[in-house]
Amino acid sequence: MSVSQVPVRAGAADDGAGLAISGQGRAVTGGRARARVARWQLCPSSVALAGVTVILVWTGVMDLLRQGRLEAVLRGGWAELAAPVLVTLVVVAGVCERIWPAEPRPVLARGHVQDACYVALHAIVVIPLMTLLSVGSAALIGSHAGWIALRPAQNWPGWLLIPLTIVAMDAANWLAHFADHRLGFLWRFHALHHSQEELSVLTSFRAHPLMHTTGFVLATVPVVVLMPGRPIAPVLITIYVCIGTMQHANLRWTYGPAGRVIVSPAYHRLHHAREDQSINLGVVLTIWDVLAGRARFPSRRAAAGRTGLEGRPVPVEQHHAAAPGPLLLAEQLIEPFQAQR
Ligand SMILES: [Zn+2]
Ligand SMILES: [Zn+2]
Repeated sequence: MSVSQVPVRAGAADDGAGLAISGQGRAVTGGRARARVARWQLCPSSVALAGVTVILVWTGVMDLLRQGRLEAVLRGGWAELAAPVLVTLVVVAGVCERIWPAEPRPVLARGHVQDACYVALHAIVVIPLMTLLSVGSAALIGSHAGWIALRPAQNWPGWLLIPLTIVAMDAANWLAHFADHRLGFLWRFHALHHSQEELSVLTSFRAHPLMHTTGFVLATVPVVVLMPGRPIAPVLITIYVCIGTMQHANLRWTYGPAGRVIVSPAYHRLHHAREDQSINLGVVLTIWDVLAGRARFPSRRAAAGRTGLEGRPVPVEQHHAAAPGPLLLAEQLIEPFQAQR
């Protein structure tokens, strides 16, 4: 939250109350002081989510240190989540955005530059975090709820078991995304992703690191149920991530008939519409939206709608054009921890 926004959202009510009661300078000072305190009051649910994330990461680190595999697993995480094919896809999508943009805009548009800062954060912080979250979740669920493992599944052939697990993981990701929109304490972190008013392929990386916790815990459940102790081939994870990354590209692509099943850029853009974010929650598959009655398939001729959040509840670069990207990024990451929004 920017300093200029604070009085509007949090401080104004306090200052107003102080003036109305006494009209004296002391009351005004008191009101401002209270506003300053309110400004820095922490949101308990956000702190709790951070605490859960720390526990999961700590469990992951301890588990890997015990096995002497910490470095190898972190390197493996990099290989899956920053694979050359993914980097190439992002570059190719960026070129396609220049040729066939859904919304024409300069290559160095403020939104693109800010999302590039999130790419750096993703590479430095989020990839190791995701890797450790998945290890920590598997260790905790495996040790406390190992009974959920479906023993007969261990004899099923790989061609059935692996696709089944990935589809189930996608369902879990849909559920986590649904929860992000329905539960206020999760929306605090998800709102940052929706605050982008200039979608591009880089927006896939514009996410608060703590937004990933619920998704990784839920997506670990089908892995523990169907494939306990068996890793999914890294190439499949990379393909999954590639499809999930393309959905934010500034393109009108609907993927034709395949877009009825796979989330396309045009399909996901409807989820980022300012007016209604309750539809098209799918991460890779659209079937969960269809089953939940929340699928809205895009028309190829429809104009690209406006994206972002009405009223800009999260500080955005389009409003703070002069703010340096990393500084605004820090402000955007801190914002969910402030009690008033
Ligand atoms: Zn969303
Ligand atoms: Zn999105």
